[in-house]
Amino acid sequence: MELGKYSMGIGDRFHHQGKAQLTSLKYAEKDGLIITPVWNKSFREHQIIKSNPSDTRKEADMAVKDLKWEHPYFVDADHIGLRSVDYFLDSCDFFTLDVADYIGKQADENIIKSFIRRCKQYLGRLSLQGVDEPLCITEEVIKSVAEKFLFAVGEAGKIYRYILEKKGSDNFIVEVSMDETDLAQSPVELLLILAAISFENIPAQTIAPKFSGRFNKGVDYVGDVGKFTMEFEADLAVLNFAVKEFSLPAGLKLSIHSGSDKFSIYPAINKALKKFNAGIHLKTAGTTWLEELTGLALSEGEALRLTKEIYKKAFCRFEELCEPYRTVIDIEGANLPHPFHVDNWSGEKFASALRHDLSNSEYNLHFRQLLHVGYKIASEFNRKYLDALEKNENLIAKNVIENLFERHIKKILY
Ligand SMILES: [Zn+2]
Repeated sequence: MELGKYSMGIGDRFHHQGKAQLTSLKYAEKDGLIITPVWNKSFREHQIIKSNPSDTRKEADMAVKDLKWEHPYFVDADHIGLRSVDYFLDSCDFFTLDVADYIGKQADENIIKSFIRRCKQYLGRLSLQGVDEPLCITEEVIKSVAEKFLFAVGEAGKIYRYILEKKGSDNFIVEVSMDETDLAQSPVELLLILAAISFENIPAQTIAPKFSGRFNKGVDYVGDVGKFTMEFEADLAVLNFAVKEFSLPAGLKLSIHSGSDKFSIYPAINKALKKFNAGIHLKTAGTTWLEELTGLALSEGEALRLTKEIYKKAFCRFEELCEPYRTVIDIEGANLPHPFHVDNWSGEKFASALRHDLSNSEYNLHFRQLLHVGYKIASEFNRKYLDALEKNENLIAKNVIENLFERHIKKILY
């Protein structure tokens, strides 16, 4: 089973935008660009919304059938571990093994020793095609990667073998993710992590490292773009090397989590992918839910009132909503508009504050991030929220399609 060179994580919170999302990929298809849709939804999201992976599967199958999509597509059990994997086994054919919580846990002494022994051959300066600076691999760095990451990779191996036993080989795609952690992984660390993944016999097709800088949910990249560019290019060179050297799947590619809305680094990513003839997996799921809110706000009347109610509740339950997303949001409470003021806003004003348009002075990234993690509130409105989605479907779909196609696909892959 192969993911294809370009793929996008497009899962959506309430299973209502599958067709709109796939429509944006059909636009790209018309231009000769095939992007594999992957409806990803994490255990965390399913728990918060009280939805089920079979709902995601239904949404994906239906969108594919209705729009006559003839290329591969997948349903991703996003950010799962041994404790949550069972829940996803029947419905999913893509598994994102999240082992970030195990980084820093010490592996068995013998495993560490054997890893260090196997990596000794890479000691010294390693020149990679396409990057000027050779990687510098020292005994210290090998030892530190062994101590920091081997336990986590071992955990990924356990989850992988468990899924393999249940689903059989070549029936699913594997991603290893280490992104939801505080410290970024350098290209040298990525290289050695890939060695460990290969020693563990995990046929990973995508790997999600933590890049330097902040990848906050639904807002732009925060960090040094020049530094990111160098790191990203070095990571692509590392992957090319690792595929050959460690016999990892030929299509192995980077996966960018919280990948939506990173407008300031998209030009660099676009250029780097061309330079290295590399593929990419970009997870953008959360941005679609914000397009639903934008569409509802612009619909005025009852729909706008609902978005205001959602904001008011999110404002009051700030701590609770932000807690699960600690490493991927940065919200300054003092910069959030008070619900009392928001109550008087027009739909256009609400949409201007929410929409990620840096040229609009009314855009408020704190407001946007809080609403990003506020989907739990919408789920509590249950039928009322879903009815609003269905009633205002056309305007919402237009926003969803435009956002994915114009602001993401075109910027990264054209
Ligand atoms: Zn993630």
